[in-house]
Amino acid sequence: MQEADVLDKYREAGRILAEVRSEAIKKVQIGEKLLDVAESIERLILQKGGAVAFPVNISLNDEAAHATPSKDDVSTFGRDLVKLDIGVHIDGYIADTAVSIDLGSNRELLEASNIALEQAIEVVHAGVDTAAISAVIEQTITDCGFHPVVNLTGHGLERYTQHAPPPIHNRRTQGGTKLKEGQVIAIEPFSSNGNGRVYETGKAEIYSLVKTKPIRSPEARAILKEAEVYKSLPFAKRWLKGRVDMGLKQLETAGIIRAYPVLKDKGLVSQAEDTLIVTADGSEVITRI
Ligand code: MN
Ligand code: MN
Repeated sequence: MQEADVLDKYREAGRILAEVRSEAIKKVQIGEKLLDVAESIERLILQKGGAVAFPVNISLNDEAAHATPSKDDVSTFGRDLVKLDIGVHIDGYIADTAVSIDLGSNRELLEASNIALEQAIEVVHAGVDTAAISAVIEQTITDCGFHPVVNLTGHGLERYTQHAPPPIHNRRTQGGTKLKEGQVIAIEPFSSNGNGRVYETGKAEIYSLVKTKPIRSPEARAILKEAEVYKSLPFAKRWLKGRVDMGLKQLETAGIIRAYPVLKDKGLVSQAEDTLIVTADGSEVITRI
């Protein structure tokens, strides 16, 4: 059971995020620049008094997660299936949400993730096993005629930790974890018309600090100084000043930071995500107004 004031910080993060998300959806239109959209969403979070929990993810079509524009990205939206994944924190307490926007003709695929999320939220209450949630997600997406993405999961949330236990799988598992009252979790079904399994591409724009240890390179040290502000939360390469390619590589090789390569499926992917507080008889979805 979380302390009441801690839950209030989650609620505040969720309320800000819900407002930001409804504004963000309107920005995603054919011809708009991805970089402008990402930066304006991040600015909006700050204007509303939140902190950015991780770079705004804008993943298109076969990209499932971890895509965010680079500093010099000039690409614009076309008839894409867009996933916006946004996070806000208050004092380290994170709310995490994602929404898919169909600028083309993939309404059914988009709805599969939305319906799976609704059905999953229905079964949440203190004492439920996460395996029951996973079974509902798989069944719903399969009934819609698509594949759940089996190697991406929902998760618990802890202070400054976006992916805490328990994992909430998008397919049936043999026994999970019983949820407790006051636990904060994110449920995020992904539906695919491809394999239902993502792979890492070679491209990364998002990193996080894993551990600190001395490093000699001035380029690496300059990045480390900037990155430490984000504690263990992910940050974007485009947030860093100057030329950073060499320094990032050095930090990654030294095991000080980790990269989050863009994850793709062999097909189109949709996603829906909300953060909720588990209650005795259900849940409180904090990322909706
Ligand atoms: Mn998310
Ligand atoms: Mn998440």
